[in-house]
Amino acid sequence: MTASNPAAHLDTLRQRMVDSQLRARGIVDARVLSAMRRVPRHEFTPECYRDQAYEDHPLPIGEGQTISQPYIVASMLEALELRPEDRVLEVGTGSGYVTALLAELAAEVFSIERHATLADEARRVLSSLGYTNVKFIVGDGSQGFPSSAPYDAITVAAATPEPPPLLLWQLAEGGRMIVPVGPPDAQQLQLIRIQNGQPQISLREPCRFVPLISGVNGVEV
Ligand code: SAH
Repeated sequence: MTASNPAAHLDTLRQRMVDSQLRARGIVDARVLSAMRRVPRHEFTPECYRDQAYEDHPLPIGEGQTISQPYIVASMLEALELRPEDRVLEVGTGSGYVTALLAELAAEVFSIERHATLADEARRVLSSLGYTNVKFIVGDGSQGFPSSAPYDAITVAAATPEPPPLLLWQLAEGGRMIVPVGPPDAQQLQLIRIQNGQPQISLREPCRFVPLISGVNGVEV
């Protein structure tokens, strides 16, 4: 890190991440690229990993969980085709990095995390960055958050053998869900779109996420 101006150095690394990891690999959505240019990913990593915040891989965030690789984040956000007026449900807040990107790209974000420690830290960071359009919930995201449904988009940041049916029910007509589906060691992203009341599935790239773990009651924090 450059001692004279660390903030400018991080800006340069973030710009380089967008160019070499996202644009160069085919991410074209201008709103996604611009949000990823703005959101300071280094604020969402533990202090000891800050110098790796703009590298091309996931990083540990505590509780055995990870902040996802920037490319896979961009690919999932691009697939969701978010509009500024959309209401979005995020399952697996983790560090809150994707939550901040969703807050940039959509009108309202509901984010569920089963680890209260991670949800609290994510809430602290987003609040320090000035985001006001996010509601954090501690609980089991595989049940969704029915009281604020339907959602225009749902993103699931943990691996599941099948798309959780309760989440599909909480999508609006025309709504989109992106979810990593498959066994614990290798999944494939599925984009599911509700058309005329029916889920239409398209298969996207291979990926590897921590498992979606079910079974805690949802509590708003
Ligand atoms: N997008 C996040 C990814 C975090 S990893 C980031 O980039 O930081 C996935 C997260 O899903 C973990 O924090 C894990 O605790 C959480 N998770 C797993 N199962 C869950 C469930 N049933 N409900 C809510 N969160 C869950």
